[in-house]
Amino acid sequence: MSIDQRRLIQTYAHSVHMAHDTLTALDQLSGDGDFGDNLREGIDQVTTALDAAPTELAFTIAARVFLDEVGGTSGPLIGLLFQEIAHALADDNSEAGWAAGVREGMAAIQRVGEAQAGDRTMVDALLPACDALAAGGDAHASALAALNGAKATASLRARRGRASYVGERVLGAPDPGAVGVALLFWSRAKVLE
Ligand code: ADP
Ligand code: MG
Ligand code: MG
Repeated sequence: MSIDQRRLIQTYAHSVHMAHDTLTALDQLSGDGDFGDNLREGIDQVTTALDAAPTELAFTIAARVFLDEVGGTSGPLIGLLFQEIAHALADDNSEAGWAAGVREGMAAIQRVGEAQAGDRTMVDALLPACDALAAGGDAHASALAALNGAKATASLRARRGRASYVGERVLGAPDPGAVGVALLFWSRAKVLE
């Protein structure tokens, strides 16, 4: 089945709006409290740009906006994820292209941010989602894996990002970036319903 990139981005935008206050609260615990705003402002710029460019591929637009316009540590990292998804879907706009894109995107994030599994970052949502896809799991399986991965960051101390400065204070609450990225996989499953 081919991927409706616009619908996926619009569904993600909706989920980011629903989650904004939670993402803000999580980043207030572990960082500087701007993650919800960074993500929401970024995705809103993407949906505005989508309307202005009705024929351009949605992940190409999303990559450009997040790489060039979105602040915080997360903006350019999510931009890299979108860029690799855009490249992979331009070659193969299918489930296989999606799986390849998110795996390449995670690799790009790790090259730049140097986070490993268990460092309490968005990688902890991406890695299980990629593993689920590599094992032949469908969109729902990968969404569940991403959400469980994000949830499990609640018991991790941060070794990357601002949260690494606050030590045990973050324990009990999940990493905002991991939750924000898990919502992309949740949105991917949602558009198939
Ligand atoms: P900032 O600390 O610049 O305000 P944001 O609030 O925009 O950053 O994003 C915070 C999120 O970025 C974290 O929750 C984490 O998931 C992610 N993050 C931080 N550093 C890294 C890294 N080195 N690699 C991957 N993700 C990271
Ligand atoms: Mg922040
Ligand atoms: Mg910040």
